[in-house]
Amino acid sequence: MKFKGKNILHFMERFPNDEACKAYLAKLKWHDGFTCPKCGHTKGCQKKGYKYHCYGCDKVESSTAGTLFHKVKFGLRKAFCIVFEMSTSSQSLSSIQMGERYGIRQGTAWYFMQKVRRAMESSKKYPLEGLVHVDEFVVGGQEKGAPGRSYKTNKAKVIIALELNEKRKVKRAYAKVIDDYSSKSFTPLFEQHISQSAKVVTDKWSGYNPLKKEYDIEQIPSNNGRNFKEMHIIIHKIKSWLRTIHAPVSKQHMENYLNEYCYRLNRSQAKRTIFHNNISRMVNANPVSQLQIINGN
Ligand SMILES: [Zn+2]
Repeated sequence: MKFKGKNILHFMERFPNDEACKAYLAKLKWHDGFTCPKCGHTKGCQKKGYKYHCYGCDKVESSTAGTLFHKVKFGLRKAFCIVFEMSTSSQSLSSIQMGERYGIRQGTAWYFMQKVRRAMESSKKYPLEGLVHVDEFVVGGQEKGAPGRSYKTNKAKVIIALELNEKRKVKRAYAKVIDDYSSKSFTPLFEQHISQSAKVVTDKWSGYNPLKKEYDIEQIPSNNGRNFKEMHIIIHKIKSWLRTIHAPVSKQHMENYLNEYCYRLNRSQAKRTIFHNNISRMVNANPVSQLQIINGN
């Protein structure tokens, strides 16, 4: 039942219309059986249009209700296409390009893409292990006409952790927006994403000192970045990606973009199932309102 692969023609054949997408969602949503969200009853029957009729309270539940596909107005097939592009490409499109491609307004595309990004947020169940490099950088908020020297800081400060394999290739990454470069601001990234058994390496910044109580941290000189080459490549990639998709400068949304970037990076070995994984996450996530998306909470 799982859709696999990155081939867009196979994808189009599998999802020729909205009905096929509804069927996919229904299978995912009720694969463990039906439980009525209103009365908790588990007996019912599937109706036409991939809906479920509850015998307990007579409620008819659609396959999109209670998921991030709730109230998608431009059609499920287009929504599936956007999820496909965002999960299988190595660099996702901007909402402007996505809007043009699927004939929907840029704003509509942006809202939906924010929902997809929410589903891409880490479960925090698999902290980084082994050799982990940690560093900080600033991104976004480039003022028009003042390249490279934006004093009015709409820039977001970010802390990032990379897990490197034996060949020093990047295996996985997590990043978080921070208020400042204090150990207090660094702590959530460590607690949520780095295993206490990991071997952490940072530059000589004193903000990491207090974390040594809980983590095995070695501090080495950055040596103009030469000791953190993999780190600087990733940071460069994130920054140029954010420029190409015209990411908004606001800090609260920045984290969603970082989640998207890390989600794809962390699944570069599992690209065949990444679309299915993303759709499942969207089915299991709670619906969000436009207001919650605007406020970034
Ligand atoms: Zn019911």
